[in-house]
Amino acid sequence: MNPLYTLLARHSETTKIAIREPGGREWSYPEFFDLVARAARVLTDLGVESGDRVALQANKSTEALAVYLGCVQIGAVFLPLNTAYTESEIDYFLEDSAAALFICNPQIESVLATQTKRRVASLDGQGGGSFANLLESASVLLKVTPRNNDDLGAILYTSGTTGRSKGAMLSQQNLASNTETLVDYWQFTASDVLLHALPIYHTHGLFVASNVALATGATMLFHTSFNVDAVVADLPAATTMMGVPTFYTRLLADSRFNHELASHMRLFTSGSAPMLLETHLEFERRTGQRILERYGMTETGMLTSNPYHDERKPGTVGLPLPGVQLRLSTDDSAAGTERESATGSESQTDSDVIARPTAATIGMIEVKGPNVFSGYWQMPEKTAEEFRDDGFFVTGDLGSIDDDGYVTIVGRNKDLIITGGFNVYPKEIELLVDEVEGVRESAVIGLPHADFGEAVTAVVVFENKADKAGVGDTIRQHLETRLAKFKQPKEYVVVDELPRNTMGKVQKNLLRQQYGELFS
Ligand code: AMP
Repeated sequence: MNPLYTLLARHSETTKIAIREPGGREWSYPEFFDLVARAARVLTDLGVESGDRVALQANKSTEALAVYLGCVQIGAVFLPLNTAYTESEIDYFLEDSAAALFICNPQIESVLATQTKRRVASLDGQGGGSFANLLESASVLLKVTPRNNDDLGAILYTSGTTGRSKGAMLSQQNLASNTETLVDYWQFTASDVLLHALPIYHTHGLFVASNVALATGATMLFHTSFNVDAVVADLPAATTMMGVPTFYTRLLADSRFNHELASHMRLFTSGSAPMLLETHLEFERRTGQRILERYGMTETGMLTSNPYHDERKPGTVGLPLPGVQLRLSTDDSAAGTERESATGSESQTDSDVIARPTAATIGMIEVKGPNVFSGYWQMPEKTAEEFRDDGFFVTGDLGSIDDDGYVTIVGRNKDLIITGGFNVYPKEIELLVDEVEGVRESAVIGLPHADFGEAVTAVVVFENKADKAGVGDTIRQHLETRLAKFKQPKEYVVVDELPRNTMGKVQKNLLRQQYGELFS
């Protein structure tokens, strides 16, 4: 048995189109799964064995998706990496995961091949690269390696609170169960055509979008990135779209996106970052439809969703999904924690709320379910810190639950910044800024930004006030080669000192208030 492969390949023999690329290339289900079986062969020929990690940092392409499924077929652990990661970040991921193979862009393949003993291959996003060349001539591998529910299917690195990224270990069952739940809850069928413009190195584009589409035999319009012109051109051919809030603000800023263009669509979903109420309202005004907002995270897959048929409440992330237990803890310490809980019901109309807090109760969201990961790769202490004794995972998100059981995310206690749908933990950036000579200390915050949702902003204190001029450029240069672009501050604010509370903790809330208008 290989539960994830069985689920994702169950339409491999239907004659429908699995993937249509905007350039015109099409892959029927049998053609796509032929590619997958050839990818499985190439991976095996390159020495990858069941349980080995295969890291991939490559532009989005059908071939890259086939590598993911090829890994599932042979029981390898897929490790997708954000294309924005720099060389030093990549070094850490490869080292930490002890990846057996790294598939990267051709430009860095030769450099890496000479520098390290690691096995490397490449994909360029246009069907080129050494891995693609091997694919061309490879024979199909028919064997599907047996795997158990608890075996690892993927490791996805999340930004670390202490500056070190953590590898979330996702099992076959975590991924398969969440896929099945979403297919059902969002009523996907083989007649669906999903406009897929999300990156596939992130849980949203890889597991939510691709897994759901493949498991239902739907067609994906596989865009390499979100481009408004291309999306507007392809919308008439789609029935559904999954996006981050930025997609929707960009569409709404375009006058071509109107009622007529959206009228045939059965579903728009949003997640990965909070969607502003005004975006929800403007979308509904423009199209007559409500975006279905859902909530989840890398470690857990999807946790809550607004209902498909029943009321979608803008500003909330909906109800716990079937099988997901969700509760709020109102005290951060494990001992004596007071808790309120809600559990996702099988029926969308009858939310099985066990004990409902008043709407005013705000607490830490804790979750349990077959979709929740088992821990961080080789970080038992970190894992233990984030799980309660009874198996609930502490999400780090603060929320409330209303009288109908709908969950609202009110904040994050871990200081996480979400910019354009990507997570950035301030600590990682602060540590680098503080390394620069002349910097005494810094505080990195997210400020409201119309396009990115939040913009990374560094508030910096210099040793010597006279240093103010010029040091900004030095910081910028220092960060440029060490951090992915999306993590680099969009703006630097220089202050004489950081506001602190009596415990000496920097009051980032005051900074966020003071500079809240910086990007407006
Ligand atoms: P990631 O692991 O990149 O998927 O990020 C997960 C985090 O994104 C969650 O812990 C939340 O803080 C945030 N998030 C995801 N979906 C939503 C949503 N619909 N509204 C608010 N925050 C969200």
